[in-house]
Amino acid sequence: ETQTAPRRLVVLGSTGSIGAQALDVVAEHPERFDVLALTGGRNVALLAAQAMRFRPRFLAVLDQPLAAELRERLPGDYTPEILSGPESFVELAELSEADMVLSSIVGAAGLPPTFAAVRQGTDVALANKESLVLAGGLIRAACRESGAALLPVDSEHNALFQASCNETAASLRRLILTASGGPFRGRDRAFLETVTPAQALAHPNWSMGAKISIDSATLMNKGLEVIEACHLYGLPESRVATVVHPQSIVHSLAEYVDGSLLAHLGPPDMRVAIAYCLCYPERVALSVTPIDLVRLGGLTFEEPDLALFPCLRLAREAFAASPSHPVVLNAANEVAVALFLSGALPFLGIPRLIERCLDRHDGRDIPDLSSVLDLDHEARERARELSGALRD
Ligand code: NAD
Ligand code: MG
Repeated sequence: ETQTAPRRLVVLGSTGSIGAQALDVVAEHPERFDVLALTGGRNVALLAAQAMRFRPRFLAVLDQPLAAELRERLPGDYTPEILSGPESFVELAELSEADMVLSSIVGAAGLPPTFAAVRQGTDVALANKESLVLAGGLIRAACRESGAALLPVDSEHNALFQASCNETAASLRRLILTASGGPFRGRDRAFLETVTPAQALAHPNWSMGAKISIDSATLMNKGLEVIEACHLYGLPESRVATVVHPQSIVHSLAEYVDGSLLAHLGPPDMRVAIAYCLCYPERVALSVTPIDLVRLGGLTFEEPDLALFPCLRLAREAFAASPSHPVVLNAANEVAVALFLSGALPFLGIPRLIERCLDRHDGRDIPDLSSVLDLDHEARERARELSGALRD
């Protein structure tokens, strides 16, 4: 059975690494999609180029001056509606004509539009893992109520989805998320003391946005992914294991009660996961380099070094502590990563700052979106204050 009408797509964060790769997938299968809206942060030049190519009816950027600049870059015969400000991302996420929203804004900024889309009942291809870390319970409840599907783009969770890992399977023993180990796998503490942003940004297997690249270097990315998996599959963190797999070929595994492991293998190319979600339930051809198993020779697995990379442990502890601890974890991490990238915090200051923030948090009820966003805001201010003592 082939799809008849093109899927009407809203891409949130189209100028980012995931967003741009999603548009590569669209360009490879133009008959399958109708790009309804694109949003970007500040990269107006790239957004204008994307807009001219895909001609969406709606565009949005962070503020009014950027919107004016964007308008100037577009030709006179193409006049989309150009919105601005954080509310505009929410507005486009809940367009009733949309069939699918790709949530690929980075960080907590992605939560309000992601939540708006699922509440509206629109299927969401989810790259923005921070949404689930902050408000997994609320998002899942909104999906149940509206009927929206959440299709995981994150490669590990997409692997489990592709391996037909079923959240309700009584026979599922645990999930095993693979981790590349990041650029500092096997290094010692003395080396990590001296790490620069440029070194941390150079990931061995994946080319990604700055924030997730740093998260990969600290292993916070795997911590966020453990929490993401717990929400997607309704599991306690004790049933989501992690293993370092430097080749990034096995993207994750599900272990069943009879000892069976179901895994998904593929090239380390995010377009595979993105296309699987955007075209679901169909699988489409992609111009990715297939894996040559013989040339690869072997796949290796090892234990993550939690003493040197405490962020993974901190994320597990936060998830186990209370629903609000992951909000504080994420806020402190976003502040710490930004400080590190600007040269104001050493690499090892990232886990130290996060641990301080978590130690000072008591846990509280976060029954709705606004209480999550209030806590996020508060926790960021707290993290900035506490960072003073840890700065270079
Ligand atoms: P990126 O930094 O390359 O792109 C982020 C996008 O969000 C850009 O379009 C940017 O303009 C926009 N943006 C930034 N701040 C914004 C704000 N405050 N409001 C609105 N828009 C804003 O990031 P990325 O690497 O593409 O990652 C996007 C998300 O996908 C992250 O949550 C990340 O964890 C997740 N993810 C990424 C990868 C990857 O390979 N890059 C893999 C798995 C998951
Ligand atoms: Mg991932």
